[in-house]
Amino acid sequence: MLPYQARCDKLRKLLKKSNYPGLLVSNRTNVTYLTGFTGEDSFLLVMPDGEVLITDPRFTEQVEQECPGLEMHVRLPGVSMSAATGRACGTAKLGRLAIEGDSLTVSARDRLADQLPKVELATSSGLVETLRTIKDKSEIAAIRQAVRMAEEAFTTMRGRLSRGESEKQYANGLEAEMRRAGAKGASFETIVAVGARSALPHARPTGKLLSEAGFVLIDWGADGGLYKSDLTRFLVTAKISPKLERVYGVVLKAQLAAIEAIRPGVSCADVDAVARKIIADAGFGKRFGHGLGHGLGLDVHEAPRLSQGQATLLEPGMVVTVEPGIYLPGWGGVRIEDDVLVTRNGHEVLTSLPKSWEECFI
Ligand code: ZN
Ligand code: ZN
Repeated sequence: MLPYQARCDKLRKLLKKSNYPGLLVSNRTNVTYLTGFTGEDSFLLVMPDGEVLITDPRFTEQVEQECPGLEMHVRLPGVSMSAATGRACGTAKLGRLAIEGDSLTVSARDRLADQLPKVELATSSGLVETLRTIKDKSEIAAIRQAVRMAEEAFTTMRGRLSRGESEKQYANGLEAEMRRAGAKGASFETIVAVGARSALPHARPTGKLLSEAGFVLIDWGADGGLYKSDLTRFLVTAKISPKLERVYGVVLKAQLAAIEAIRPGVSCADVDAVARKIIADAGFGKRFGHGLGHGLGLDVHEAPRLSQGQATLLEPGMVVTVEPGIYLPGWGGVRIEDDVLVTRNGHEVLTSLPKSWEECFI
């Protein structure tokens, strides 16, 4: 059975609780989550008694294939999105309509308000995103696939690592291997950062050669079609300073302890704190300048966030990354990242690439 109806029904319950009769879903990923439709430029109007997809003639056949039975309001050429949405909402006779404040632009909201002078527009935030935090079986299977594609590619490229290659060439190779493993592509721009460049948590690959330093940080993930994976590994390619071994040891200890802490009922902030304390106790507290991890699914970064101040409690079905790091400007950085599923009794690490210090050596 397709999961989409159940998702829309769950959303309706949430809407009722928030006292919104209807929601205009404008975030493309949210539309996909609720309907299975993968095209763009389409909004989903969720009402108390059903849904209608506001789309245009380019997509009618795709909608019929991807979401059989889904009601469509087809916007003809020359009719603006706001006018079409206004008409669909008018037909639904909603007095109050929630919009997605995190995705609809201010001007789109204004245009919609002009079309619907009698409808009160209410700004909502994170409704569908909250539903998306709990993955069902099919979603977990899709994430497992995306993990497998990323791992296969990395294992191949690790065996083929040439120190004469540049960061950019290595990143391209990794992305090509992910596609060969069945991925649609990379789930985000692959990071290959040699030596001191690894101190930049979001380093873009450059022409710098892998031989220009003794270590390289690689952060990559596969887009399995819809669902994504996200991993980071650290490879040692030449003789390096003992300081590096110590830093790596601290990051690995922090990561393993944080993963161990993952189970239902624990808050996101508490998991972050486990890793943060270990890094701070080792004297690197100021060198871990980002959250511990993030939710993973249709988007490579989604709710929940494992970071300070996040009171959200972990629940079975959530998938999060765990990626502590220590960054020493001008010298280098270490980050280790794995993808973890929250299970009923604790957790399951979905990624399986080796990460002991000995296994970092090429
Ligand atoms: Zn990553
Ligand atoms: Zn990540």
